[in-house]
Amino acid sequence: MADRFPCGLMVSELESRKLTFANDYVASILGYTSEEMIGASLETILTKASMIFMDSYVYPSLLDDGEHSELQLTLMGKNGDRFPVLANIRANEQGYLHWALFSAVERDKMYQELIAARDQLQLQAEKLKAIASTDSLTGLLNRRAAQERFERLYQQSNRVPTPLSLLLIDIDHFKQINDRYGHLEGDRIIVGVADVIQSTLRSVDLGVRWGGEEFLIVLYATHVEGAVGFSRRIHDALTQVKLEGFAVRVSIGVAQVNLNLESVSEALDKAVAAADQALYQAKDSGRNRTEFARF
Ligand code: GH3
Ligand code: MG
Ligand code: MG
Repeated sequence: MADRFPCGLMVSELESRKLTFANDYVASILGYTSEEMIGASLETILTKASMIFMDSYVYPSLLDDGEHSELQLTLMGKNGDRFPVLANIRANEQGYLHWALFSAVERDKMYQELIAARDQLQLQAEKLKAIASTDSLTGLLNRRAAQERFERLYQQSNRVPTPLSLLLIDIDHFKQINDRYGHLEGDRIIVGVADVIQSTLRSVDLGVRWGGEEFLIVLYATHVEGAVGFSRRIHDALTQVKLEGFAVRVSIGVAQVNLNLESVSEALDKAVAAADQALYQAKDSGRNRTEFARF
């Protein structure tokens, strides 16, 4: 009769942990006959990890509650194969345990697949987030992401009062470069300037493609004096980006960000406007230079 059930049925002695009964279902998945299993110790059909789980958790609570359900155990076959199962176990007054075992192979597989799918999704979400926040030509942050990242930097700078400097960098006479050498060559110059900016920044700073040939930089924990040094390094490094032997040049406007404003977007807007005015002055006084905003 017990051999007709599509699940494993076993009886073991509580004290000796030896089997007194196993139906065909359990015996055949483990590679034994039911007769062979009688007298076998639980240790021979459960993995070590499952045995430890039984000893430390299941046995003590079986003695208290008399039964336990949906235990995740792993059976071990005659040739060492492993079978994940769900087990319901009930103890009776005579000192026997009655076991009902359900195969959990499919359930385990599905669980593993779910974990893999979740990991995959997480990875894709991270990739999408990176794509959504970077400018595809230069790999710098795009304008939208910059606003978000600026907010974090601004709050950090206010927590432990830390100066923040903001720079606007604009390529000089870029229209001429486009007109003379074509749009593709223009793009190459934009990428070249972006690379120089990127390699001059520290990981705490922000490098943003603010517009066509215009870049925004936010330097963390940096006074105007620090920004002077940074601008000089940019001007120097840009001599490597060349077009027919001529170095590409930029103008830079620098402003210090006003801390302690209530609105972060107001702080950003004000600093950008101030840097933009300084940039205009740099252009007006001959280009290829850095000017500072005067508040
Ligand atoms: P200035 O020294 O005053 O800055 O002069 P400029 O010629 O650089 O002046 P402006 O900033 O007005 O010109 C920017 C030009 O950049 C205009 C536009 O056609 C070009 N541009 C904008 N985005 C891109 C881009 O993604 N690729 C290329 N190749 N050109 C772009
Ligand atoms: Mg411009
Ligand atoms: Mg320009």
